[in-house]
Amino acid sequence: MSTTPPRQPVAARSGRHQIVIVGGGAGGLELATTLGNTLGKKGKADIILVDRTRSHIWKPKLHEIAAGSMDMGIHEVDYLAQSHWHHFRYNVGEMTGLDREAQHITVAAFIDDEGRQVTPQRTVPYDTLVIAVGSQSNDFGTPGVAEYALKLETAADARRFNQRLVNACIRAHAQQTPLQPQQLQVAIIGAGATGVELSAELHRTTREVVAYGLDRIDPDKDISLNLIEAADRVLPALPRRLSEATEALLRKLGVVVHTGAKVAEVQAEGVRLADGRVIPAELVVWAAGIKAPAFLHELAGLETNRIDQLVVHTTLQTTRDANIFAMGDCSACPWPQAPGAAGDATAKPAFVPPRAQAAHQQASHMVGQIRRRLAGQPLREYRYRDFGSLVSLGEFSTVGNMMGALVGGNLMIEGYFARLMYESLYKMHEYALHGGPKVALETLSRMITRRTEPHVKLH
Ligand SMILES: Cc1cc2nc3c(=O)[nH]c(=O)nc-3n(C[C@H](O)[C@H](O)[C@H](O)COP(=O)(O)OP(=O)(O)OC[C@H]3O[C@@H](n4cnc5c(N)ncnc54)[C@H](O)[C@@H]3O)c2cc1C
Repeated sequence: MSTTPPRQPVAARSGRHQIVIVGGGAGGLELATTLGNTLGKKGKADIILVDRTRSHIWKPKLHEIAAGSMDMGIHEVDYLAQSHWHHFRYNVGEMTGLDREAQHITVAAFIDDEGRQVTPQRTVPYDTLVIAVGSQSNDFGTPGVAEYALKLETAADARRFNQRLVNACIRAHAQQTPLQPQQLQVAIIGAGATGVELSAELHRTTREVVAYGLDRIDPDKDISLNLIEAADRVLPALPRRLSEATEALLRKLGVVVHTGAKVAEVQAEGVRLADGRVIPAELVVWAAGIKAPAFLHELAGLETNRIDQLVVHTTLQTTRDANIFAMGDCSACPWPQAPGAAGDATAKPAFVPPRAQAAHQQASHMVGQIRRRLAGQPLREYRYRDFGSLVSLGEFSTVGNMMGALVGGNLMIEGYFARLMYESLYKMHEYALHGGPKVALETLSRMITRRTEPHVKLH
């Protein structure tokens, strides 16, 4: 008689050094993939990626999903498949707790869309823990945001926005009565890169949706895009010249730009500003400010700042636990070489900005740190290299500035070259996840299929 051998317990350990990475985003997934391809493949360490979702999408692409101009299927990376091909293990679920003494994290039960439990709550032990859970938007407690504004934090948010946008167009086309003041009016709060890119992308895609036979809508007359910013200019974190060029481009497209406009409240049918003005809007997107996920707040006694980022040394180790690293948007990493901070003892301490290029650089740096840690060698300091910022204005233009020794300071760029640089950041991410040949083949296939596919995706 044959007996079934007992199944291995889920958390069984191999005895190898166990590296747990929480968050498979821009930084975490690159790290898990590279460590899997090296240490995991050679059996030198066990690498476990924990993410609360089943698949990865590069966040700077979210505004394209929201506008309907990107095919998610092509750009989504399935964690389970990625872990199989790149020699790491994947655990689905949301990290909710940490026990530093026992060296394990707590991962909540994972419940599917139909309310069924897929995995129970469990603990995952680590020797080295890397927290890379990103950030979310910060509404600064503004009334009405949670009830009436949409956010662009996940692929599900972006799809929801796209559905509401398309439904708003279909409703307006079908109705017999005149349009209400808020109908087909969009308000985007926050004119950082996300808000600006979304405005430009929406300008184009709303016209394309209407062109699918919704001919009772006149886009120039009926649709309006309002970009609202509390600072005195769009892209306030970037050089003024860049803001001016961007604002001029947006105005040319017909985007209504409100600068120096502080939002007091988001209402069911619009946005009320601090000066009393109300901007009617059917769709409101909150794209201003970031903060780290709330569960990090003083998590197991780790040091956090006022936006709940984990404070780290330049080695990327958290200040109170050398076995725990944090990187990407959820970390506050000193940037002593920041322009304005270097050599000025009176300047406020600067921190690495929450950007995809920082997450990418930190992931590469972490690979070296982990190798050195396993070899018992001293860790190296991470230095953020600011290559500048690029903002895509959809098909209209790309603007940006390039920084650093290569261009001899701060050089403003625009047009095709800027577009190429913008695309290259995503290419580097794809390269880290899939390797050179696959990226080259997929790029070629996208170039071919783009010619035959409709541009706008209706989700
Ligand atoms: C709409 C939009 C546009 C952007 N455009 C640009 C741009 O043009 N250029 C640029 O440089 N930057 C841009 N950014 C910022 C950039 O996306 C981030 O800086 C970058 O993604 C940060 O990478 P990360 O690895 O720290 O976190 P993320 O990429 O945010 O990944 C975090 C991961 O952690 C997971 N996670 C979160 N909480 C938990 C938990 N408790 N347990 C388990 N898993 C968890 C999430 O599911 C996610 O997979 C944009 C951001 C947004 C939202």
